Amino acid sequence: MAAVRLVILGRQGSGKSTQCARLVEAYGPVHISTGDMLRAVVAEGTELGLRASALMDAGNLVPDDVMIGIVAERLAKPDVVEHGFLLDGFPRTPVQAEALEEILSDTGADGVRAVNIDVPVDEVIERMLARGRVDDTEEAIRRRLDLYESSTAPLLAWFEEHGLLSVVVGLGTEDEVFDRLRTAIEGVSA
Ligand code: AMP
Repeated sequence: MAAVRLVILGRQGSGKSTQCARLVEAYGPVHISTGDMLRAVVAEGTELGLRASALMDAGNLVPDDVMIGIVAERLAKPDVVEHGFLLDGFPRTPVQAEALEEILSDTGADGVRAVNIDVPVDEVIERMLARGRVDDTEEAIRRRLDLYESSTAPLLAWFEEHGLLSVVVGLGTEDEVFDRLRTAIEGVSA
């Protein structure tokens, strides 16, 4: 099978992190999490890190041009070219999605697909409340989910319009969800 080039989408509490780890193990793509990359930049304390930190703390997005630069640079590295990628947290806006398409066509890469791990809002709220974290009040959870919804809905539409979206039901056991992901990925790459 050719290298996997995947954008992974899913609400907080959808089991996305767990499934990312399993996908990396099964298919070997480079896991590119823009949240993790930004936290690493923040830890370095550079000027970009300070700017990013202020935005992230306020719950805002880092500007598109900055994010696009960071991701374009990462996608050009030899490990990604060879092993493919699992993009997690990018694109976050339609402008980033357009940029991704351009970056990939510049590198002559095969098409990227998006997989949405779909878990209904009520279910993810239940899961997050069950974790019992102090900052996980129902109101705070709903606020974060609303933010995710408003930034992701146009993206889902964008991938759908381009015929690049697979929706995977995120209910059931980890194994069941993983099997559905495999079917979605291998079904289109076979
Ligand atoms: P995450 O770990 O994916 O929730 O990301 C943590 C924070 O990093 C987000 O709340 C944003 O402030 C920032 N961030 C991560 N990815 C992006 C992106 N693609 N575009 C803009 N900001 C981002």
